[in-house]
Amino acid sequence: MLSKSTCWFLCATVVLLAAPASSHEGSKVPAPSSFNELSTAFGWDLKNTAIASEKIRDGLFVLVGLGGNIAVNVGIDGVLIVDDQIPQMMPKVLAEITQLGGDGVDYAVNTHWHFDHADGNLALASSDAIIIAQANSRRMMQSNTLINLVGVSYLQPAYPDGALPTITFDDSLQLHFNGQQIDVMHFGAAHTTGDAAIIFRGSNAVHMGDVYNTAYPFIDAGNGGSIDGLIAFSRAVLEQIDENTLVIPGHGTVGQYADLKNYIDMLVEVRLKMLAMINQGANLNEVLAAKLTADWDAERGDSSLFINRTYMSLTHKLVDR
Ligand SMILES: [Zn+2]
Repeated sequence: MLSKSTCWFLCATVVLLAAPASSHEGSKVPAPSSFNELSTAFGWDLKNTAIASEKIRDGLFVLVGLGGNIAVNVGIDGVLIVDDQIPQMMPKVLAEITQLGGDGVDYAVNTHWHFDHADGNLALASSDAIIIAQANSRRMMQSNTLINLVGVSYLQPAYPDGALPTITFDDSLQLHFNGQQIDVMHFGAAHTTGDAAIIFRGSNAVHMGDVYNTAYPFIDAGNGGSIDGLIAFSRAVLEQIDENTLVIPGHGTVGQYADLKNYIDMLVEVRLKMLAMINQGANLNEVLAAKLTADWDAERGDSSLFINRTYMSLTHKLVDR
């Protein structure tokens, strides 16, 4: 299993700004960083980072470099990838695909529009690759969008036409490729408003994008993401899979059904505890001080960004966006 986590939001130096004393208010959004500043904050080495590749099923691989996990399906019909990281990594990704027996990319499915999962579209724009995404993700890619990571923010630039998905869907789409059915499914706003889970029915594996991370998830509450949506989406995926399904996270190590179930249990418990505090008038600093995630911190790491964005999604006081 993959040992290297490239969780972009946790690699950032997250400096939580003091929240105002009044109830349910958040922190001011920081001035946007440039891509280079962001890359430095994440500790990304654009030049020297290699692609690590792991075979998880026959014809199905997970590639780790900079940004989100890429799933690669290689077979008789060609190559389908799920997510494409950043353009700087694409030559290395394509070289690895060749090593795996493929020749270029036929289909690229974006789990969502965030730069560390979809900016590779920019490098595929001049190729024959067909890009697929949920309709809301395509819309987000069409304009400059601010992502508030709390302590650091990034204004993701609009994509040119060639980097935009040419096939979109609202709820679901089926591909029949390399001898199996591949279901691309959307279950409402979760991490963002345009998330997709890609289920390889024959391989019995699912790529969940950033709806599921092995660390604490980032919820893009400034752009319509919510803890309630994250729970609902994750539960809907659980209904679609079985106990032998491999679960590929947006960032982190490949897990199984039980890992997704434990993740949902954690989300539900944190949400309930936080909601009780909010109903008693707790502000963000009080919620952060309560250490609601103490039982999972050893396994999942720093929860401050997760707590911040969960709080904002529960209070619906998006004062920073
Ligand atoms: Zn994301």
